[in-house]
Amino acid sequence: MSMANLSYQSTRGGEKGLTASCAILKGLAEDGGLYMPSSFPKLEVSMEKLAGMSYQETAYEVMRLFLTDYTEEELKHCIHCAYDSKFDTEEIAPLREADGTYYLELFHGSTIAFKDMALSILPYLMTTAAKKNHVENEIVILTATSGDTGKAAMAGFADVPGTRIIVFYPKGGVSRVQELQMVTQKGDNTAVVAIHGNFDDAQTGVKKIFGDQAFGKRLADHGFQLSSANSINIGRLVPQVVYYVYAYAKLVQKGRIKNGEKINITVPTGNFGNILAAYFAKQIGLPVKRLICASNDNKVLYDFFQTGTYDKKREFILTSSPSMDILISSNLERLIYLSAGCDAEVNKKLMAKLGTSGSYTVTEDMRGRMEDFTGGYADEAENAAEIKRLFDAAGYMIDTHTGVASAVYRKYVAETGDAAPTVIASTASPYKFSHSVMEAVYGDQGEKDEFEIIDDLCKATGVAIPRAVEEIRNAGIRHRRECDAETMENMVAEILGV
Ligand SMILES: *Cc1c(COP(=O)(O)O)cnc(C)c1O
Repeated sequence: MSMANLSYQSTRGGEKGLTASCAILKGLAEDGGLYMPSSFPKLEVSMEKLAGMSYQETAYEVMRLFLTDYTEEELKHCIHCAYDSKFDTEEIAPLREADGTYYLELFHGSTIAFKDMALSILPYLMTTAAKKNHVENEIVILTATSGDTGKAAMAGFADVPGTRIIVFYPKGGVSRVQELQMVTQKGDNTAVVAIHGNFDDAQTGVKKIFGDQAFGKRLADHGFQLSSANSINIGRLVPQVVYYVYAYAKLVQKGRIKNGEKINITVPTGNFGNILAAYFAKQIGLPVKRLICASNDNKVLYDFFQTGTYDKKREFILTSSPSMDILISSNLERLIYLSAGCDAEVNKKLMAKLGTSGSYTVTEDMRGRMEDFTGGYADEAENAAEIKRLFDAAGYMIDTHTGVASAVYRKYVAETGDAAPTVIASTASPYKFSHSVMEAVYGDQGEKDEFEIIDDLCKATGVAIPRAVEEIRNAGIRHRRECDAETMENMVAEILGV
């Protein structure tokens, strides 16, 4: 089978013709843009074949289409190292039917959130890329996290030779379990810093460090080079396309849908990475009807799909779904670029406008090209009510992010009557947000501490407490650094000793 070599280019026009491995190594383009494939490949194996494949086999069939400069041996090696017994089920991403809808459980990896799906393979993709491109420098992964990426990235990169990882999270902006998971992280090459600010401040700070060429030079002089494990890295996006193909194939295999029948996909959205992966799956040939983009009270994306104006000038609201508390959804830039007919100049102007005035408006033409998407949102009360409703109706406990998606999906069905089979991306284990989910179902939890609530959750659901939670019960705190958003670069310099 012959395959054209795919190349990657920046959404802002500054770079073209990169190999996949090079794009993965760099993470973010030098002009601030994100890397996009020059065209969309198409699935080459039939759905009949995919229906009988394991997760690992499916991963190979999907990822080889995008990562064309990796050899078969390299890619299969990465896949087999990533999707192994770190996951607590051989299915890797099981589909669970509840109340007539399919919940795609993406939280069976080592940190019990969907970030594991991509971050368990990214370190392998990256170290392979470093070898292929004869990189001698130590790779420093800089990551801003709204709670889940940081831990999943550290779990993936901890003690990987030739790499260091520094994670910034918003102090007070993550759940207790998320924070404990991060500050107890082991590994001599890991560092965690709480910043005084919100996730957007952390993400903007990281982007600024990437954009500081003088700092890049200083790092290079000390044998370091920066890369990103955030969902802007194409090496995060591509592995996420896999599970949508896998879910569809399993529905066909189980006889729940006919081959070719269109499904809807609902995704609880923050940085727009997971839902963009679903859109990529559609582009490579998966029969998808609607992509339902679910937001919490930070409903900047809902407003965007409603009006065509993206406006980040609003209050940042802390919710019980912290991994979606985001006002600047970085990956949306890729959709903007596509909807502009891959015109980098158009995209660049809109992104510049977002930077200077905090908002931009797309043309009617561009909106027309985004018609596959429907935006919805659920507030705190609707989210809690949906978690309780589903638990009462089906005995199935979902986390607060999945709760947003589930609530938005019910509202969508009530409004449209659309009865197409639907997959809801279930992005975290309820154990990661025990307090909120137990409060949603049983009311105020009083003075109980987090681990008492976790034990109650186990009694209520009969679902075993994941290893990831047991690990932090008695673990010692290893990371205590804090800084202001303005001094993140100094913090990086201090940690690296440059
Ligand atoms: C990161 C995250 C999201 C949002 O995903 P994006 O790709 O940023 O849109 C949703 N739920 C959970 C649990 C997450 O960790």
